[in-house]
Amino acid sequence: MRRAICPGSFDPITLGHLDIIQRAALMFDRVTVAVLVNPEKNPSFTADERLDMIRRAVRGISNVEVECFDGLLADYARQKNAQVIVRGLRAVTDFEYEFQMALANRKMNMDADTVFLTTSAQYMYLSSSMVKSIACFGGDISDFVPECICGEISQRLCMPRFNDES
Ligand code: ADP
Repeated sequence: MRRAICPGSFDPITLGHLDIIQRAALMFDRVTVAVLVNPEKNPSFTADERLDMIRRAVRGISNVEVECFDGLLADYARQKNAQVIVRGLRAVTDFEYEFQMALANRKMNMDADTVFLTTSAQYMYLSSSMVKSIACFGGDISDFVPECICGEISQRLCMPRFNDES
């Protein structure tokens, strides 16, 4: 069985992430979306909130599961018996960091290889931080995040003076 992990912060999940997860699910038998719990990153959403949003977004993709992890990705991959770590590449600017991480992870776990999927062109500019910046000023994020979690993200992040309902 080919098992892959899609690791990330997913703070919050965007349509760019979902596209990578859906494409990975077509390539591998089992895909684990692994949410990194790293308080140092100071996430906007708790690990439980991120897990819940991802689970709702991937509902219907039968070979995808969603979990949290902390510590080293190389150890987590070993624990999951995953042969592949899937990462998305948006631009050359992503490359240097990703290349370094892939080499370090391979050094620590020779049984797992990192595979890069090129972003779909329409999501090339899309990141969680961009979504958060737009949402906090009351902007429309419906083109950027899965529909089922759009309202929740807007409500959670919109600053009161930009919120029509307040
Ligand atoms: P991290 O903090 O580990 O980079 P992210 O949640 O920002 O976590 O991203 C997780 C993965 O999804 C990374 O491989 C990242 O490159 C990829 N990714 C994020 N946004 C996009 C996008 N718009 N298109 C393709 N891949 C993306």
